[in-house]
Amino acid sequence: MKHVEKDPPRSKGDLIVVTGAGGFIGGNLALHFSKLGFTNIRAVDKKPLAEWYLHVPGVQNLCLDVSVEDNCRRVCEGAVEVYNLAADMGGMGFIERFRVECLRSILINTHMIEAAYRAGARRYFFSSSACAYNTDLQKDPNVRALKETDAYPAMAERGYGWEKLMSEMFCQEYWAERGMKTFIARFHNVYGPHGTWDGGREKAPAALSRKVVEAQDAGGNDITIWGDGSQTRSFMYIDDCVMGIDKITHCDELIATPINLGSSELVSIDDLLTKVEKVSGINKKLNRHYDLDAPKGVAGRNSDNTYIKQVLGWEPSTTLDDGLAKTYRWIEEQYHRRKAGERVGVG
Ligand code: NAD
Repeated sequence: MKHVEKDPPRSKGDLIVVTGAGGFIGGNLALHFSKLGFTNIRAVDKKPLAEWYLHVPGVQNLCLDVSVEDNCRRVCEGAVEVYNLAADMGGMGFIERFRVECLRSILINTHMIEAAYRAGARRYFFSSSACAYNTDLQKDPNVRALKETDAYPAMAERGYGWEKLMSEMFCQEYWAERGMKTFIARFHNVYGPHGTWDGGREKAPAALSRKVVEAQDAGGNDITIWGDGSQTRSFMYIDDCVMGIDKITHCDELIATPINLGSSELVSIDDLLTKVEKVSGINKKLNRHYDLDAPKGVAGRNSDNTYIKQVLGWEPSTTLDDGLAKTYRWIEEQYHRRKAGERVGVG
Protein backbone atom coordinates (compact mmCIF):
# COMPACT_ATOMS: atom_id res chain seq x y z
CA MET A 1 0.00 0.00 0.00
CA LYS A 2 1.36 3.40 -1.03
CA HIS A 3 2.13 5.87 1.76
CA VAL A 4 -0.65 8.49 2.16
CA GLU A 5 0.55 11.90 3.32
CA LYS A 6 -1.77 13.70 5.69
CA ASP A 7 -3.44 16.89 4.35
CA PRO A 8 -3.20 20.16 6.26
CA PRO A 9 -6.50 20.79 8.09
CA ARG A 10 -9.44 21.70 5.83
CA SER A 11 -10.24 25.40 5.93
CA LYS A 12 -13.53 27.08 5.00
CA GLY A 13 -11.53 29.43 2.73
CA ASP A 14 -10.03 26.60 0.63
CA LEU A 15 -10.82 27.04 -3.05
CA ILE A 16 -13.26 24.34 -4.15
CA VAL A 17 -13.83 23.91 -7.89
CA VAL A 18 -17.00 22.23 -9.17
CA THR A 19 -17.38 21.60 -12.90
CA GLY A 20 -20.77 20.83 -14.42
CA ALA A 21 -22.17 23.21 -11.81
CA GLY A 22 -24.87 24.48 -14.17
CA GLY A 23 -26.21 20.93 -14.24
CA PHE A 24 -28.02 18.78 -11.73
CA ILE A 25 -25.45 17.17 -9.43
CA GLY A 26 -22.74 19.86 -9.79
CA GLY A 27 -25.23 22.60 -8.90
CA ASN A 28 -26.45 20.74 -5.85
CA LEU A 29 -22.86 20.00 -4.80
CA ALA A 30 -21.89 23.70 -4.97
CA LEU A 31 -24.96 24.42 -2.83
CA HIS A 32 -23.94 21.70 -0.35
CA PHE A 33 -20.48 23.24 0.19
CA SER A 34 -21.93 26.72 0.41
CA LYS A 35 -24.37 25.58 3.10
CA LEU A 36 -21.46 24.01 5.00
CA GLY A 37 -19.86 27.47 5.16
CA PHE A 38 -17.19 27.20 2.45
CA THR A 39 -16.60 30.71 1.17
CA ASN A 40 -14.39 30.15 -1.86
CA ILE A 41 -16.32 28.06 -4.38
CA ARG A 42 -15.75 28.26 -8.14
CA ALA A 43 -18.64 26.85 -10.18
CA VAL A 44 -18.00 26.11 -13.86
CA ASP A 45 -20.22 25.09 -16.78
CA LYS A 46 -20.26 25.64 -20.53
CA LYS A 47 -23.98 26.49 -20.51
CA PRO A 48 -24.93 30.18 -20.45
CA LEU A 49 -25.59 31.29 -16.87
CA ALA A 50 -29.29 31.85 -17.54
CA GLU A 51 -29.67 28.10 -18.14
CA TRP A 52 -28.02 26.90 -14.93
CA TYR A 53 -30.43 25.06 -12.64
CA LEU A 54 -29.06 26.69 -9.52
CA HIS A 55 -27.35 30.00 -8.85
CA VAL A 56 -25.71 29.65 -5.47
CA PRO A 57 -25.21 33.02 -3.74
CA GLY A 58 -21.61 34.01 -3.08
CA VAL A 59 -20.16 31.50 -5.55
CA GLN A 60 -17.89 32.50 -8.43
CA ASN A 61 -19.59 31.32 -11.65
CA LEU A 62 -17.54 30.75 -14.79
CA CYS A 63 -18.97 29.86 -18.21
CA LEU A 64 -16.17 27.84 -19.77
CA ASP A 65 -15.83 24.67 -21.83
CA VAL A 66 -13.64 22.29 -19.82
CA SER A 67 -12.91 20.00 -22.74
CA VAL A 68 -10.40 22.72 -23.73
CA GLU A 69 -7.04 22.42 -22.01
CA ASP A 70 -6.37 26.16 -21.51
CA ASN A 71 -9.77 26.63 -19.89
CA CYS A 72 -9.03 23.81 -17.44
CA ARG A 73 -5.84 25.58 -16.34
CA ARG A 74 -7.83 28.74 -15.66
CA VAL A 75 -10.51 26.76 -13.84
CA CYS A 76 -8.05 24.91 -11.57
CA GLU A 77 -5.85 27.91 -10.69
CA GLY A 78 -5.38 27.92 -6.90
CA ALA A 79 -7.73 24.96 -6.35
CA VAL A 80 -7.45 22.90 -3.18
CA GLU A 81 -10.18 20.44 -4.16
CA VAL A 82 -11.59 19.73 -7.63
CA TYR A 83 -14.92 18.00 -8.26
CA ASN A 84 -15.40 17.10 -11.91
CA LEU A 85 -19.11 16.66 -12.61
CA ALA A 86 -19.08 17.94 -16.19
CA ALA A 87 -20.06 15.46 -18.89
CA ASP A 88 -22.18 15.38 -22.00
CA MET A 89 -24.80 13.01 -20.72
CA GLY A 90 -28.46 12.16 -20.28
CA GLY A 91 -30.85 9.26 -19.72
CA MET A 92 -31.01 6.13 -21.91
CA GLY A 93 -32.56 8.10 -24.79
CA PHE A 94 -29.42 10.21 -24.95
CA ILE A 95 -26.63 7.75 -24.20
CA GLU A 96 -27.88 5.10 -26.63
CA ARG A 97 -28.16 7.60 -29.50
CA PHE A 98 -25.19 9.89 -28.94
CA ARG A 99 -22.24 7.62 -28.24
CA VAL A 100 -19.74 9.91 -29.92
CA GLU A 101 -20.75 12.85 -27.70
CA CYS A 102 -20.48 10.58 -24.65
CA LEU A 103 -17.03 9.31 -25.67
CA ARG A 104 -15.83 12.87 -26.27
CA SER A 105 -16.31 13.61 -22.54
CA ILE A 106 -12.95 11.84 -22.18
CA LEU A 107 -11.44 15.21 -23.14
CA ILE A 108 -13.01 16.80 -20.07
CA ASN A 109 -11.47 14.45 -17.55
CA THR A 110 -8.17 14.20 -19.42
CA HIS A 111 -7.61 17.96 -19.27
CA MET A 112 -9.22 18.56 -15.88
CA ILE A 113 -7.14 15.96 -14.04
CA GLU A 114 -3.90 17.24 -15.54
CA ALA A 115 -4.82 20.85 -14.73
CA ALA A 116 -5.75 19.87 -11.16
CA TYR A 117 -2.43 18.07 -10.80
CA ARG A 118 -0.44 21.02 -12.15
CA ALA A 119 -2.33 23.40 -9.86
CA GLY A 120 -1.30 21.24 -6.89
CA ALA A 121 -4.88 20.38 -5.92
CA ARG A 122 -5.02 18.12 -2.87
CA ARG A 123 -8.04 16.07 -3.89
CA TYR A 124 -9.72 15.32 -7.22
CA PHE A 125 -13.16 13.75 -7.52
CA PHE A 126 -14.46 12.04 -10.67
CA SER A 127 -18.13 11.19 -11.25
CA SER A 128 -18.23 7.72 -12.77
CA SER A 129 -21.33 5.65 -13.39
CA ALA A 130 -22.91 2.23 -12.95
CA CYS A 131 -22.78 2.16 -16.77
CA ALA A 132 -19.11 1.24 -16.33
CA TYR A 133 -20.18 -2.23 -15.14
CA ASN A 134 -20.09 -5.32 -17.31
CA THR A 135 -23.38 -5.35 -19.24
CA ASP A 136 -23.35 -9.17 -19.42
CA LEU A 137 -24.22 -9.16 -15.70
CA GLN A 138 -27.33 -7.03 -16.26
CA LYS A 139 -29.44 -9.10 -18.62
CA ASP A 140 -32.10 -10.15 -16.12
CA PRO A 141 -34.54 -7.83 -14.28
CA ASN A 142 -34.00 -10.01 -11.17
CA VAL A 143 -30.44 -8.79 -10.93
CA ARG A 144 -27.77 -9.59 -8.44
CA ALA A 145 -26.70 -6.16 -7.17
CA LEU A 146 -23.45 -4.97 -8.72
CA LYS A 147 -20.36 -4.88 -6.56
CA GLU A 148 -17.25 -2.87 -7.31
CA THR A 149 -15.30 -5.84 -8.73
CA ASP A 150 -17.99 -6.41 -11.40
CA ALA A 151 -16.51 -3.80 -13.77
CA TYR A 152 -13.80 -6.25 -14.91
CA PRO A 153 -13.59 -8.26 -17.16
CA ALA A 154 -14.80 -5.13 -18.92
CA MET A 155 -17.88 -4.99 -21.14
CA ALA A 156 -19.17 -1.53 -20.25
CA GLU A 157 -22.12 0.28 -21.83
CA ARG A 158 -20.98 1.30 -25.32
CA GLY A 159 -19.82 4.92 -25.51
CA TYR A 160 -20.81 6.40 -22.15
CA GLY A 161 -19.71 3.46 -19.97
CA TRP A 162 -16.36 2.99 -21.69
CA GLU A 163 -15.58 6.69 -21.31
CA LYS A 164 -16.24 6.37 -17.58
CA LEU A 165 -14.05 3.28 -17.28
CA MET A 166 -11.13 4.94 -19.09
CA SER A 167 -11.46 8.11 -17.01
CA GLU A 168 -11.47 5.99 -13.84
CA MET A 169 -8.16 4.56 -15.02
CA PHE A 170 -6.74 8.06 -15.47
CA CYS A 171 -7.66 8.75 -11.85
CA GLN A 172 -6.00 5.55 -10.67
CA GLU A 173 -2.79 6.24 -12.58
CA TYR A 174 -2.55 9.88 -11.42
CA TRP A 175 -2.41 8.47 -7.92
CA ALA A 176 -0.11 5.54 -8.72
CA GLU A 177 2.40 7.48 -10.83
CA ARG A 178 2.02 11.05 -9.64
CA GLY A 179 0.68 10.83 -6.12
CA MET A 180 -2.43 13.00 -6.57
CA LYS A 181 -5.26 11.86 -4.34
CA THR A 182 -8.15 10.95 -6.62
CA PHE A 183 -11.63 9.66 -5.74
CA ILE A 184 -14.10 7.83 -7.95
CA ALA A 185 -17.79 7.22 -7.28
CA ARG A 186 -19.91 5.07 -9.56
CA PHE A 187 -23.30 6.77 -9.34
CA HIS A 188 -26.46 4.72 -9.79
CA ASN A 189 -29.33 6.83 -11.26
CA VAL A 190 -29.65 10.08 -9.36
CA TYR A 191 -32.89 12.06 -9.21
CA GLY A 192 -34.36 15.04 -7.41
CA PRO A 193 -35.22 18.72 -7.78
CA HIS A 194 -33.04 20.99 -9.96
CA GLY A 195 -32.37 18.26 -12.52
CA THR A 196 -33.23 17.63 -16.17
CA TRP A 197 -36.96 16.99 -16.57
CA ASP A 198 -37.67 17.57 -20.27
CA GLY A 199 -35.89 17.85 -23.60
CA GLY A 200 -34.62 14.28 -24.18
CA ARG A 201 -31.85 13.96 -21.57
CA GLU A 202 -34.11 13.33 -18.57
CA LYS A 203 -34.08 10.03 -16.69
CA ALA A 204 -37.00 7.79 -15.73
CA PRO A 205 -38.17 9.42 -12.44
CA ALA A 206 -38.22 12.90 -14.02
CA ALA A 207 -39.67 11.68 -17.34
CA LEU A 208 -42.51 9.76 -15.66
CA SER A 209 -43.22 12.67 -13.29
CA ARG A 210 -43.46 15.09 -16.22
CA LYS A 211 -45.72 12.74 -18.17
CA VAL A 212 -48.06 12.41 -15.20
CA VAL A 213 -48.11 16.20 -14.75
CA GLU A 214 -48.94 16.54 -18.47
CA ALA A 215 -51.71 13.94 -18.24
CA GLN A 216 -53.13 15.66 -15.17
CA ASP A 217 -53.00 19.06 -16.84
CA ALA A 218 -54.63 17.85 -20.07
CA GLY A 219 -57.17 15.60 -18.31
CA GLY A 220 -55.64 12.67 -20.23
CA ASN A 221 -55.83 9.00 -19.31
CA ASP A 222 -52.86 7.60 -21.24
CA ILE A 223 -49.13 7.34 -20.68
CA THR A 224 -46.28 5.87 -22.72
CA ILE A 225 -43.53 3.88 -21.03
CA TRP A 226 -40.23 3.06 -22.70
CA GLY A 227 -39.72 -0.73 -22.82
CA ASP A 228 -42.08 -3.30 -21.32
CA GLY A 229 -41.98 -1.79 -17.82
CA SER A 230 -40.21 -4.80 -16.29
CA GLN A 231 -36.72 -3.21 -16.34
CA THR A 232 -35.45 -2.72 -12.81
CA ARG A 233 -33.25 0.04 -11.40
CA SER A 234 -32.37 1.74 -8.14
CA PHE A 235 -32.63 5.53 -7.80
CA MET A 236 -30.64 7.71 -5.40
CA TYR A 237 -32.01 10.98 -4.07
CA ILE A 238 -29.79 14.00 -4.76
CA ASP A 239 -29.18 14.89 -1.08
CA ASP A 240 -27.68 11.44 -0.51
CA CYS A 241 -25.56 11.85 -3.63
CA VAL A 242 -23.89 15.12 -2.57
CA MET A 243 -23.39 13.85 0.97
CA GLY A 244 -21.78 10.69 -0.44
CA ILE A 245 -19.44 12.66 -2.73
CA ASP A 246 -18.21 14.71 0.24
CA LYS A 247 -17.69 11.62 2.42
CA ILE A 248 -15.91 9.65 -0.31
CA THR A 249 -13.57 12.51 -1.22
CA HIS A 250 -12.43 12.85 2.37
CA CYS A 251 -11.79 9.17 3.06
CA ASP A 252 -8.12 8.26 2.47
CA GLU A 253 -8.98 4.57 2.38
CA LEU A 254 -10.84 5.27 -0.87
CA ILE A 255 -8.02 6.94 -2.78
CA ALA A 256 -8.09 5.77 -6.43
CA THR A 257 -10.67 3.12 -5.51
CA PRO A 258 -13.99 3.11 -7.41
CA ILE A 259 -16.98 2.76 -5.11
CA ASN A 260 -20.72 2.45 -5.65
CA LEU A 261 -22.77 5.50 -4.72
CA GLY A 262 -26.38 4.49 -5.12
CA SER A 263 -29.54 3.32 -3.44
CA SER A 264 -30.10 -0.41 -3.03
CA GLU A 265 -33.92 -0.04 -3.21
CA LEU A 266 -34.70 -1.89 -6.44
CA VAL A 267 -37.86 -0.99 -8.36
CA SER A 268 -39.31 -1.89 -11.78
CA ILE A 269 -40.24 0.95 -14.11
CA ASP A 270 -43.88 -0.15 -13.83
CA ASP A 271 -43.73 0.13 -10.03
CA LEU A 272 -41.93 3.45 -10.31
CA LEU A 273 -44.88 4.81 -12.29
CA THR A 274 -47.31 3.50 -9.69
CA LYS A 275 -45.36 5.43 -7.05
CA VAL A 276 -45.39 8.60 -9.17
CA GLU A 277 -49.17 8.27 -9.68
CA LYS A 278 -49.53 7.95 -5.92
CA VAL A 279 -47.49 11.05 -5.00
CA SER A 280 -49.19 13.09 -7.76
CA GLY A 281 -52.62 12.67 -6.21
CA ILE A 282 -54.00 12.02 -9.70
CA ASN A 283 -56.41 9.51 -8.15
CA LYS A 284 -56.49 7.20 -11.12
CA LYS A 285 -54.33 4.65 -12.85
CA LEU A 286 -53.33 5.86 -16.31
CA ASN A 287 -53.61 3.51 -19.29
CA ARG A 288 -50.08 2.30 -19.90
CA HIS A 289 -48.75 1.96 -23.45
CA TYR A 290 -45.42 0.23 -23.81
CA ASP A 291 -43.06 1.49 -26.51
CA LEU A 292 -40.92 -1.59 -27.13
CA ASP A 293 -38.76 0.19 -29.73
CA ALA A 294 -37.71 2.98 -27.38
CA PRO A 295 -34.26 2.86 -25.70
CA LYS A 296 -34.53 0.87 -22.47
CA GLY A 297 -30.97 0.05 -21.40
CA VAL A 298 -29.99 -3.07 -19.49
CA ALA A 299 -32.72 -5.34 -18.09
CA GLY A 300 -31.80 -4.79 -14.46
CA ARG A 301 -29.31 -2.90 -12.31
CA ASN A 302 -28.88 -2.40 -8.58
CA SER A 303 -26.17 -1.16 -6.26
CA ASP A 304 -24.46 -3.55 -3.83
CA ASN A 305 -23.70 -1.32 -0.85
CA THR A 306 -21.64 -3.77 1.21
CA TYR A 307 -18.39 -1.91 0.56
CA ILE A 308 -19.63 1.64 1.21
CA LYS A 309 -21.28 0.52 4.46
CA GLN A 310 -18.06 -1.17 5.51
CA VAL A 311 -15.74 1.72 4.70
CA LEU A 312 -17.95 4.73 5.53
CA GLY A 313 -20.52 3.21 7.89
CA TRP A 314 -23.10 4.98 5.73
CA GLU A 315 -25.22 4.46 2.61
CA PRO A 316 -27.85 6.49 0.73
CA SER A 317 -31.05 6.03 2.67
CA THR A 318 -33.76 8.42 1.40
CA THR A 319 -36.71 6.23 0.41
CA LEU A 320 -38.01 6.42 -3.12
CA ASP A 321 -41.44 7.46 -1.82
CA ASP A 322 -39.99 10.45 0.05
CA GLY A 323 -37.64 11.52 -2.74
CA LEU A 324 -40.27 11.16 -5.45
CA ALA A 325 -42.76 13.31 -3.56
CA LYS A 326 -40.26 16.21 -3.47
CA THR A 327 -39.18 15.68 -7.07
CA TYR A 328 -42.73 15.51 -8.39
CA ARG A 329 -43.71 18.77 -6.68
CA TRP A 330 -40.67 20.53 -8.14
CA ILE A 331 -41.34 19.29 -11.69
CA GLU A 332 -45.01 20.20 -11.40
CA GLU A 333 -44.01 23.73 -10.40
CA GLN A 334 -41.50 24.04 -13.27
CA TYR A 335 -44.09 22.79 -15.73
CA HIS A 336 -46.69 25.36 -14.68
CA ARG A 337 -44.16 28.20 -14.52
CA ARG A 338 -43.05 27.39 -18.06
CA LYS A 339 -46.64 27.22 -19.22
CA ALA A 340 -47.20 30.66 -17.72
CA GLY A 341 -44.38 31.96 -19.92
CA GLU A 342 -41.56 32.02 -17.36
CA ARG A 343 -38.08 30.96 -18.40
CA VAL A 344 -37.14 27.74 -16.57
CA GLY A 345 -34.17 25.36 -17.12
CA VAL A 346 -35.07 21.95 -18.51
CA GLY A 347 -31.81 20.37 -19.60
P1 NAD B 1 -26.17 17.23 -16.07
O1 NAD B 1 -26.29 17.04 -17.55
O2 NAD B 1 -27.32 17.81 -15.33
O3 NAD B 1 -24.88 18.12 -15.74
C1 NAD B 1 -23.69 18.04 -16.46
C2 NAD B 1 -23.27 19.45 -16.77
O4 NAD B 1 -22.00 19.39 -17.42
C3 NAD B 1 -24.21 20.19 -17.74
O5 NAD B 1 -24.71 21.36 -17.13
C4 NAD B 1 -23.35 20.49 -18.94
O6 NAD B 1 -23.64 21.76 -19.53
C5 NAD B 1 -21.96 20.47 -18.34
N1 NAD B 1 -20.95 20.22 -19.34
C6 NAD B 1 -20.95 19.27 -20.32
N2 NAD B 1 -19.86 19.37 -21.06
C7 NAD B 1 -19.14 20.41 -20.56
C8 NAD B 1 -17.91 21.01 -20.92
N3 NAD B 1 -17.21 20.57 -21.95
N4 NAD B 1 -17.48 22.07 -20.20
C9 NAD B 1 -18.20 22.55 -19.15
N5 NAD B 1 -19.38 22.01 -18.76
C10 NAD B 1 -19.83 20.96 -19.46
O7 NAD B 1 -25.76 15.81 -15.49
P2 NAD B 1 -25.69 15.31 -13.97
O8 NAD B 1 -26.82 14.39 -13.79
O9 NAD B 1 -25.54 16.45 -13.06
O10 NAD B 1 -24.35 14.45 -14.01
C11 NAD B 1 -23.14 14.89 -13.42
C12 NAD B 1 -22.08 13.79 -13.53
O11 NAD B 1 -22.56 12.60 -12.89
C13 NAD B 1 -21.73 13.38 -14.95
O12 NAD B 1 -20.37 13.04 -15.02
C14 NAD B 1 -22.56 12.13 -15.17
O13 NAD B 1 -22.00 11.29 -16.15
C15 NAD B 1 -22.49 11.50 -13.79
N6 NAD B 1 -23.61 10.57 -13.54
C16 NAD B 1 -24.87 11.04 -13.37
C17 NAD B 1 -25.90 10.14 -13.13
C18 NAD B 1 -27.32 10.60 -12.92
O14 NAD B 1 -28.18 9.76 -12.67
N7 NAD B 1 -27.63 11.88 -13.01
C19 NAD B 1 -25.63 8.76 -13.08
C20 NAD B 1 -24.33 8.32 -13.28
C21 NAD B 1 -23.31 9.24 -13.48
